[in-house]
Amino acid sequence: MAVPINFITEELDRMKREGLYGNIRTIESPQGPIVKITGKEYINLCSNNYLGFCNHPELVQRVKEAVDVYGVGPGAVRTIAGTMSIHIEFEKKIAQFKGCEAAILLQSGFCANLAVLPTLAPNAEDIIFSDSLNHASIIDSCRLSKAKVVRYEHSDMDSLKAKAEEYAGATGRKMLVTDGVFSMDGDVAKLPEIVDICEKHGIIVVVDDAHGEGVLGKGGRGIADHFGLHGRVDVEVGTLSKAFGVMGGIVAGKAELVDFIRQKARPNLFSSALTVPDVAANLAAVDILLRNDNLVKKLWENGHYIKAELSKYGFNTAHSETPITPVIIGEANDAKQFGVKLFENGVFATPIVFPTVPKGTARIRVMVSAAHTKEHIDNGVAVFAKVGREMGIIK
Ligand SMILES: *Cc1c(COP(=O)(O)O)cnc(C)c1O
Repeated sequence: MAVPINFITEELDRMKREGLYGNIRTIESPQGPIVKITGKEYINLCSNNYLGFCNHPELVQRVKEAVDVYGVGPGAVRTIAGTMSIHIEFEKKIAQFKGCEAAILLQSGFCANLAVLPTLAPNAEDIIFSDSLNHASIIDSCRLSKAKVVRYEHSDMDSLKAKAEEYAGATGRKMLVTDGVFSMDGDVAKLPEIVDICEKHGIIVVVDDAHGEGVLGKGGRGIADHFGLHGRVDVEVGTLSKAFGVMGGIVAGKAELVDFIRQKARPNLFSSALTVPDVAANLAAVDILLRNDNLVKKLWENGHYIKAELSKYGFNTAHSETPITPVIIGEANDAKQFGVKLFENGVFATPIVFPTVPKGTARIRVMVSAAHTKEHIDNGVAVFAKVGREMGIIK
């Protein structure tokens, strides 16, 4: 008789044949523009460490100080015994930074989405309008919400309007959720139009600003600030694992919203608080961002520079509006091979394939940071050009 668990072998074999099996590298050094892998140094062009905070001396120092005061673990979920003064201090500071009344700190951006959608739209008569390219954590949170999920075409405002009108007579709560910056293409949600449509149709607006936090807006204050929409976005979800360089998620907005999430959201009630080192490092990151916008400026400068250089060689970098720079290759196996060749030539940049991006649009997603020098970028781009020519992707 067949062993039931053996379906795994077949599935893994299939993934390997189709180029969908990820080769996960192990980093042996701190995150940074140069990382060590299997004892060798590589130019790192694929981490979300936008501002270079992952190994910033000020963050590291603040962690050491906090650990001396609070130890490491929170010991419980926030609602039982896991709320420490450092959590509250961070929540006040991030709310101030984002220009919101209040914020709650969760364990990750993924958890922050899980805290919002199922809590605000728990009923079968509720409706969630969702952009068709939303992040997996939003999709999973929609599934957990029990609401009817109505997908609209990616950033297509006519599609959204049509759906909003189609469901105008619905009886439940209505909510819209969108990525602020779409992480695979680097395009920005049309938030001013989205907000107008939602205000007209009585729809609550939820924006997941994972790739906008620390990147968009004045000094990295995020997408609401970027578009001057303070007070008109009902729920701002954010992550501290990208530009902030640490780990954690936030939900920000009106004080009552945050109070509601604190009391009712399952990730807050049933998963322990973020650890002391995480919170201390995040606090240091906000302090740096509150001081000046030097790192944010540098990030954008590097983003513009690498895009211009890659386009100059004829690479298709799609339509990114942010430092995220996709280099479209096409088929999954080609993207894989491109990644392997980059690696052989000292560049670390992982291919991204289905199901993370649609089939036929496999890519290398290039991510620069404020910590990259012009030399890092020039050397990295030169390797892209060499491999691109070898593989016939560019002339
Ligand atoms: C990365 C990402 C997340 C997940 O954030 P984590 O803090 O890593 O859990 C959620 N939403 C979007 C849009 C993201 O890009």
